[in-house]
Amino acid sequence: MKPFFEVFSSAFLLTIARYFIIAGIFFLVFYLLFPKSLLRNKIQSRLAGKADFLREMLHSSISSIMLAIMAVFALSDGLRPYTLIYTDLHEYSLLWVPLSLLLTLIVHDAYFYWMHRILHHKKLFKITHLVHHQSTNPSPWTSYSFHFLEAIAEGGVMVLLVLVMPLHPLTLGLFALSSFVINVYGHLGYEIMPKRFRNSFLFEIINTSTFHNFHHLKFKGNYGLYLRVWDRLMKTEHPDYVKEYDRIQNQRFGGV
Ligand SMILES: [Zn+2]
Ligand SMILES: [Zn+2]
Repeated sequence: MKPFFEVFSSAFLLTIARYFIIAGIFFLVFYLLFPKSLLRNKIQSRLAGKADFLREMLHSSISSIMLAIMAVFALSDGLRPYTLIYTDLHEYSLLWVPLSLLLTLIVHDAYFYWMHRILHHKKLFKITHLVHHQSTNPSPWTSYSFHFLEAIAEGGVMVLLVLVMPLHPLTLGLFALSSFVINVYGHLGYEIMPKRFRNSFLFEIINTSTFHNFHHLKFKGNYGLYLRVWDRLMKTEHPDYVKEYDRIQNQRFGGV
């Protein structure tokens, strides 16, 4: 068993590097290199400022510590007897890797929706989730900008996942990576979905950057992470979401 600090420091470096590299690439492309040519994709017309970015980076760095602690706990020897982690890739069919990855995202979506609803409770909002909502016009840097208690709750999904389904460390790594990329897309501030997405059945179930941006702008409604499913089931989707999505896509592609 490796000493805690050694494992924790690797997990922390991985988490914070993922944040700065992936959010940084999106920020570079959308905010520094091509903001003028991507203007039609912009969801809110005003721009977030430097002070917002710095505040978000600071909170995200603290969140990275909390997320790393939760990941180390999820993979710790102490929790191991209760988890379903497997290390031999051939213990299950190789097909289980993509299938379990899909399932981790579905479980995470449900976990996030209910955690998010709880964080919006008036007794909890001001002392926790308000930090994330200080960003009314989110950017890629908002992705991990949480109060440290929210970051612990966010990281709790790793613990839940290893307890409820057999997962290979490779799948967990892919989950952490894909989850973060989708998170950055949700906070991008720009809509990049192709035009044909609107008429596909996927539009009915998957949420978009506009969807989460609307949550930051309005504070209420659109609590889901990857899917519209829980919001539609619980009737918490903002009634103007589709109208707003159409407005932005019309701004990009012209009226239909
Ligand atoms: Zn919220
Ligand atoms: Zn957000």
